[in-house]
Amino acid sequence: MSRTTPPRPEQVERLFPELAGFRGTATRLHPRPGTPSVRDGSVGGPLLWPADEPWPMCTERHRRRYGDRVADVRLRRRILAEAWSRAPEPGRQPGPTEEEGDVLRSLKRGRHAPWLQDTDPIPMLAVAQLFREDVPDLAGPADHDVLQVLWCPFDSHAGRHEPKVELRWRRSAEVGAVLEEQPEPEVVGAEGYVPERCVLHPEQVVEYQDLGLLPEDLRERIHSWEGDEDDIDESSVLYETDLSIAPGWKAGGFASWHATDPAPVVCDCGQAMDLLLTVASSEWNNGCRSWIPLEDRPIADTMDANIPTQVTVGRWGDMNVFICRTDPAHSHRLVFQG
Ligand SMILES: [Zn+2]
Ligand SMILES: [Zn+2]
Repeated sequence: MSRTTPPRPEQVERLFPELAGFRGTATRLHPRPGTPSVRDGSVGGPLLWPADEPWPMCTERHRRRYGDRVADVRLRRRILAEAWSRAPEPGRQPGPTEEEGDVLRSLKRGRHAPWLQDTDPIPMLAVAQLFREDVPDLAGPADHDVLQVLWCPFDSHAGRHEPKVELRWRRSAEVGAVLEEQPEPEVVGAEGYVPERCVLHPEQVVEYQDLGLLPEDLRERIHSWEGDEDDIDESSVLYETDLSIAPGWKAGGFASWHATDPAPVVCDCGQAMDLLLTVASSEWNNGCRSWIPLEDRPIADTMDANIPTQVTVGRWGDMNVFICRTDPAHSHRLVFQG
């Protein structure tokens, strides 16, 4: 099933023609639980990884003994999904049975990998695989048709409170034998770093630059068009939430600066950086319901429908990955928006 973003509630360029100069496109990925193959775009793997190529490991110094077992995270999700999808029975509480509750309570965070020293190599987790032919807004080297994204699922890298992200560009035609068993760490620092295995439903949409990066006079006219702040309610159409930047996982387009002041993202080489990928903690919430795909509307309010990947980044926000415009081999940059 494809996914279709409904038309925006206002044609914003009719109201503000100069926004044409701040228009761009992004490809919403619409990840949904499924069983992708190594030849498919996916969130949560499996990756088209050459059998003879070493899997990326993290050796940065940080604690890696303590956290959630990856196996426990998956078991907990399976139990909860099953429990809440059961038809309610008269006389019984909805949700997990007592027996399931016992299992859930046993899945605790802890020192589950006591043998690991703070710099022992641990395998990184597959986060996403994107094929250029499916994702028209994918930045990066045009002669590579696959992007693979992995991360080390602990919040302590490069002196910052964030995971370590690894990008690999590949030519799919050059991959012969594929690695069959993909390594995984035993333990993750946070449950939200374990993506559910998802297939993608890429959809290209039009976006407009973040409000904070528009010229001041235009920004002010948009504000006065939106109306008095005291009169804004759920039915109000707002530039930031309805007309400018698509929520959820996406490739390309504009970054949303809803949590911090917008800042130009510049590479160490001095060149501007482009938004490669947005990893999002939810595809919709009450603030951006106009972006809910038509196909998802009937189930939009059922449990976890808006968090198909089960990934959480930052404080329930977005992780934006930027790459250098002139040389994608230069170090990428992460920007978190809570
Ligand atoms: Zn690490
Ligand atoms: Zn650069």
